[in-house]
Amino acid sequence: MKITGVSTAALRGNFEWILVRVATDEGVIGLGECYWGAGVETVVRRLAPVVMGEDPHNVDWLYQKMVRGMSGAGSTGGTVVAAISGIELALWDIKGQALGTPIYNLLGGRYREGIRVYADCGHGREATPAAWAERARNAVDLGFTAIKFDIDNIAPERFADPHHVGAGRRAGWLSGQQRPLSNAEIDLIVSLVGAVREVIGPHIDLALDCHWNYNTRDAIQLARELAPLRLMWLEDPTPPDNVEALKRVTDASPVPICTGENHYTRHGLRPLITTQAVDVVQPDIPKVGGLLEAKKIADLADIYYLPVAAHNVCSPVGTLAACHVCAGMRNFAVLEFHAQDVDWWDDLVLGDRPLIRDGYVTLPDAPGLGLTLNEDVARAHLADGATLFE
Ligand code: MG
Repeated sequence: MKITGVSTAALRGNFEWILVRVATDEGVIGLGECYWGAGVETVVRRLAPVVMGEDPHNVDWLYQKMVRGMSGAGSTGGTVVAAISGIELALWDIKGQALGTPIYNLLGGRYREGIRVYADCGHGREATPAAWAERARNAVDLGFTAIKFDIDNIAPERFADPHHVGAGRRAGWLSGQQRPLSNAEIDLIVSLVGAVREVIGPHIDLALDCHWNYNTRDAIQLARELAPLRLMWLEDPTPPDNVEALKRVTDASPVPICTGENHYTRHGLRPLITTQAVDVVQPDIPKVGGLLEAKKIADLADIYYLPVAAHNVCSPVGTLAACHVCAGMRNFAVLEFHAQDVDWWDDLVLGDRPLIRDGYVTLPDAPGLGLTLNEDVARAHLADGATLFE
């Protein structure tokens, strides 16, 4: 079997969903997805000649060949690794179909038949306890047993420095401000999250995302103030670059600290794991290097007794691919679902739906990924100027 074509399709989901299609001379077609980002499709096209004519069964070697092929462009992170990941996912889909078995059987087999997912809830519709409680209740009513809220930047009009460059125009978390947390902001966060905990009760898991916004001391203080709410984790309290600073937070925090979505490949995750700078490891699978890279990261984390909670903002394609490898991680905890508000998320694929029932994805037994793209739905949601695998 030989690879004969690599193409992409960018869809307008709640993020840009970049699907990858890899064709072969035997008619087997593989489907993958890359984490979004400027230039990802361009890199996928640049990688096509690297894999063209090769046997898609040799996934690990082709991964290394793609890394080597793009080394000058920076294949240790960023867009290049996301593009490689999308192709890698599609190679597993081809291999599973060719061998007549689900992908999870090729990655060590399963520890579990259903993959637990948590619902990302973002913010409440406004910064009030009632609005946050309503948002939480809606997710729990859908059957999720774990949820996550974003606690950074809840009320920038109240807490952002009005004299900071760019204030007022980009008050959001993209502003580049790293402002200290005031007692007033901490009190607001605690009241909103407290309302969530009260409405969901003590046994629904609750995580909070900080999006890299705080300094080390504020992050530690915040964790202490939130500890009575019994969190599943506090995510990305400090910027992703300095592992030693993050370790200082983790060592002092009474709440588990989770990080990983902005780190790439096993090399990028290694210091987080081997120095135990995190309590929960959070690779984004179609961004970190793909399924086998994620499995290697999970195994490294496992020998440090750290659980994996995979980050995920994908369409059903990337989400289901992630489920195949999560099924085979001994130390898997939970996978993100970020598309509660996309009412056509399930419609993008044909077959048994909804994909998520009572907070779990049941893995299909069909060969490969086990899904078929609904091309009509995909075409209806193409990003501006995009084509479907042309
Ligand atoms: Mg996050």
